[in-house]
Amino acid sequence: MLRTTEANGAMNHFVITGARVFDGEDLLGVVDVEVADGTIVSVAGRRPEGVELIDGTGATLLPGLIDAHTHTDAESLRQSLTFGITTELDMLSMPERMIPLRRQVAESSDLADVRSPSVGLTPADGHPHQLRQGEGDPPWPTATRVDEIPAFVEGRIAEGADYLKVLVEDGHLFGSSLPRLAPELVAATVREGHARNTMVLAHAMTIETADQVVDAGVDGLTHSFFDRPHTDELIEKIAAAGIFVIPTLTVIASITGEPAGAQLAQDPRVSSKLTPTWLDNLSGTMAMSPAENFGYALETLAALHRAGVDILAGTDAAHLGAPGMAHGASLHGELRLLVMGGFTPMEALRAATSVPARRFGLDDRGRIKPGLRADLTLVAGDPTTTIGDTLSVQRVWRGGIPGPLTPTPAAR
Ligand SMILES: [Zn+2]
Repeated sequence: MLRTTEANGAMNHFVITGARVFDGEDLLGVVDVEVADGTIVSVAGRRPEGVELIDGTGATLLPGLIDAHTHTDAESLRQSLTFGITTELDMLSMPERMIPLRRQVAESSDLADVRSPSVGLTPADGHPHQLRQGEGDPPWPTATRVDEIPAFVEGRIAEGADYLKVLVEDGHLFGSSLPRLAPELVAATVREGHARNTMVLAHAMTIETADQVVDAGVDGLTHSFFDRPHTDELIEKIAAAGIFVIPTLTVIASITGEPAGAQLAQDPRVSSKLTPTWLDNLSGTMAMSPAENFGYALETLAALHRAGVDILAGTDAAHLGAPGMAHGASLHGELRLLVMGGFTPMEALRAATSVPARRFGLDDRGRIKPGLRADLTLVAGDPTTTIGDTLSVQRVWRGGIPGPLTPTPAAR
């Protein structure tokens, strides 16, 4: 069913009452939140007469959650919305699929919103080509010389890229050997991106490659590094440069054989919403790297956190079905892993709301504040003390319009 956001949004005016409100940064206590025409119009204001009241007693109202690392399609965006995720930040896509998907997202209220870098810069046979064989991808644009970088950057921006992505991966954590992007190409992409007011994010999973992209001046890391224990020097360098990190503990758990996805799959709040195929996928692991590497990722997270680095919750859930992950469900798993890594539940919630909104310039969301989009998730219980309560989704609104809470047939 396609509905235009405006047609529905113009009619809705309601107040959520009785719920504890976490505004994306702090707990406001039990206050009213009034929504009209798809926008939050007041928080703790005077309750207007004659509007619909939504009873949130015993529940907590959160800004719609943001997954800061996915690879997505329409089915995935719909599934995410049923789990209270209202925005996905895709981290590599084919324009032939992303451009029509974004059109569909603009017209439909039952899909989470999406941003994307379009195609990432990687060598012709570089990561993640080895994972995408058989996907029927069109030829990927790339660059092998510094003087080809401006055209690469212009090309992605013309495809609607919201940010740029570079991938520096030699494959050894995946048990393979891959051609690796040259440092001068990363530095040139940063230069050309910044000249166009566009952030450049990097895939780098080892201490050595992370160090290289940090020196090249990237704005964010799309994974933590976990090949060996971190060095204080690298942590300090990331903090000093103001770089943000999306640790993606979810995918690192899968790569290292940690059964985080399998535990999530056993939760009825998850299993009731996923198809058997997705449950099966979530229950698996890639198990390509030694188990102790997961511990390195947790220690790195704690060190980044102590150093004051902005941490964003992201999963690397992929519509192609990478084992150990499922869209929507996995962000809740990531929040638990952040808490396992030393975050308070409130800090974990910030990592999935106000922090990604601030770092990605999504000024209209990620907070519960008058004037912002009414992207809201109502969950039973109190996730500000018990992070597992985020899975108890009672209602979700995208731009003030109620989103689906149950899956629909895969034929959609
Ligand atoms: Zn990814």
